[in-house]
Amino acid sequence: MHNHILKIATIIQNGAVLIGKNVVCDAHVKRPIRIVTHIHWDHLMGLERSLKECENVLMTPISFDLLEILRGKYLNQEGKIKTLDYKEEFSFKGEKIKFFPAGHIFGSALVLLETEKKIKILYTGDFKYPPAEPVKTDILITEATYGNPLNVRKFKYEVEKALIDLVKESLINQPVMIFGFHGKLQRMLTIFEREKLSVPILLPNKIYYMAKVCEKYNLKLGEYILVESEEGQRITKGKEPFLALFHSKSYNNIPSYGIKINLTGWEFEKPIKRAGENEWIVALSDHSDFEQLLDFIKECKPEFVITDNYRVGDAEALSKEIEKKLKIPSMPLP
Ligand SMILES: [Zn+2]
Repeated sequence: MHNHILKIATIIQNGAVLIGKNVVCDAHVKRPIRIVTHIHWDHLMGLERSLKECENVLMTPISFDLLEILRGKYLNQEGKIKTLDYKEEFSFKGEKIKFFPAGHIFGSALVLLETEKKIKILYTGDFKYPPAEPVKTDILITEATYGNPLNVRKFKYEVEKALIDLVKESLINQPVMIFGFHGKLQRMLTIFEREKLSVPILLPNKIYYMAKVCEKYNLKLGEYILVESEEGQRITKGKEPFLALFHSKSYNNIPSYGIKINLTGWEFEKPIKRAGENEWIVALSDHSDFEQLLDFIKECKPEFVITDNYRVGDAEALSKEIEKKLKIPSMPLP
């Protein structure tokens, strides 16, 4: 029924998002142009192959600088990576590509492609609305992380305050360790900078250098210290309270002294929740919740919506709700 649409916008079995005739996003297919919407691993799949088999790999300058820290300087040795600023245009064989801020991790982009026949296709990657702004489009391909109607946060704007209170209270007599994914960790630093916390903030190697990249792009992150440095070691072994930020994947590897705070979007009832004697969960998310997804989709005014059924989420439920509530035809893919 929608065959003409699926020829220019689809998601296939390996998670690759195909738009237009020449572009593939967020996984590998041998097409001339590969796009990386942001540097989370489930959007970097097959990047090494794309760097061999595609003509160009496009991403924002921020994503490129962050990716060099994650993957090393050799990454662009063949010079195929081209950086594209938000709202700058890239053309390839009659197709026009533009990035818009996605409000997800620093550097993340929504991708708008206009075909030769002037059909607009918007692929969101991961996004958070607000601050991302809707973009008018004919066909929309959206993420569906919180696509289930039950995934509505009752407390959209109170999380940061609850988190700060918890951190300040805990820091009176012990260290506080915060665990999150890239993006959330940088957001933490901006919050602590604003709050002018008077304890040292320690960051492990990659997170430290990613913070330096964010500062290069004018994000205010305050002062922080490399855990592995002499000063960092002295602080961790000393008696004074400190704050340390780690990637979520090291949650079980870091010795548990002081308080552990886990940042997760998968919490909808309360902004903070106790998870153990010295463990807390804070509901900090960098994705739109269900209501924000629907509002964003409505504002983009698409005629057809594809929901991403490859990555974590509930693409089937979201598709049904789009048809029911917005009266726009929709299907989950793959
Ligand atoms: Zn992401």
